[in-house]
Amino acid sequence: MNYKAFLIKYAEIGVKGKNRYVFEDALIRQMHYALDHIAPFSIRKESGRVFAECMEEFDYDEVVEALSHVFGISGICPILMEDIKDFEHIEKVVKTYMHERYDDFHFTFKVFVRRGDKSYPMQSMEVAALLGEKLLDEFEDLRVDVHNPDVSLTVEIRDKVYIYSDEIPGPGGMPVGTGGRAMLLLSGGIDSPVAGYMISKRGVSIEATYFHAPPYTSERAKQKVVDLARIIARYTGPIRLHIVNFTDIQMAIYEKCPHDELTIIMRRYMMKIAEHFANESKCLALVTGESIGQVASQTMQSLYVTNEVCSMPVFRPCIGMDKQDIISLSEKIGTYETSILPYEDCCTIFVAKHPVTKPRLDVIKKSERKLEDCIDDLLKTAIETEELIKIHAH
Ligand code: ATP
Ligand code: MG
Repeated sequence: MNYKAFLIKYAEIGVKGKNRYVFEDALIRQMHYALDHIAPFSIRKESGRVFAECMEEFDYDEVVEALSHVFGISGICPILMEDIKDFEHIEKVVKTYMHERYDDFHFTFKVFVRRGDKSYPMQSMEVAALLGEKLLDEFEDLRVDVHNPDVSLTVEIRDKVYIYSDEIPGPGGMPVGTGGRAMLLLSGGIDSPVAGYMISKRGVSIEATYFHAPPYTSERAKQKVVDLARIIARYTGPIRLHIVNFTDIQMAIYEKCPHDELTIIMRRYMMKIAEHFANESKCLALVTGESIGQVASQTMQSLYVTNEVCSMPVFRPCIGMDKQDIISLSEKIGTYETSILPYEDCCTIFVAKHPVTKPRLDVIKKSERKLEDCIDDLLKTAIETEELIKIHAH
């Protein structure tokens, strides 16, 4: 079948009342981001529907794959579009469609007709019944089941006639750009790309901050984070990635603070710097890949102490997930293979053998006082020397 167009169904965004236009426009923008590099699609909305149409040749599988990355889409229906609306023509096209689409006809079906064009001379029920009859004549194995059909053949009569019987599930969620902006702390691990994906699925645009510690961490470790950002950018749209040199801060903490508190103190400064960039970019929240109890720095006590440096909300979408569930999701979204590449992370380089698992805020703050004479300058330099890269998916 040579499809030229898709009907895009969306779920949650249909019920947003006056805001519907905002949601539809964001959906269309994200669809363009997904499709423009494949073929010149024209995308338009029409009474609660979005249509994507392309007159040039395109790779069907590639387009469906691209659309399955666009949050807000609940179903992708490849459709036939016909300008001629009289019944005889519809009948002819539907029969040809059925012949091409299905190999055998041992299934039950139902014809579903929607009439957006109220001047059309036949009622919806009439069209459905007559078309059903004609199909039963044409394909003798077919059976009708109006309650639970194997195939729902839909004919929508609007400015044109739309014919389809397939609906490929979309990713769900809300279109990116409808929910404000958040700053993701993106490491090279498994969890933070998944966290970014989950927040973005609720319509939030993502910006990211990565901390590295050259020469202790390599160029390849940094490239891995860039690669991960590029993978999630297929879902989120372009990502501004802030790369921060964390070496001097880490060395200062290592020299002056108790080693079992290293990770916690480090994490607090990371949050602080990320929050600085977040404020600059008008982000309304930070996002991390933390999950309760996964490692010493993610116990309830550690999370409490880490959280305390931020005045912005910190969202941790993986917080209640088991590692295996996070892994499964990372496999599904395509980040897993990159995440497990064995490059060093700045947190693991200076990590203590026995890190505190129940840090106390007053104790940690006391340790941080040992950094008083240098930390402001170090933070300032780290911020000023950031490298900013704009990551595109394509
Ligand atoms: P991940 O798989 O996301 O790296 P993890 O299980 O390795 O997580 P940690 O290393 O304790 O856990 O990191 C917890 C969170 O802190 C990460 O999910 C990430 O959001 C943030 N983080 C850790 N290291 C970095 C880094 N080098 N740059 C940016 N963010 C980081
Ligand atoms: Mg990590």
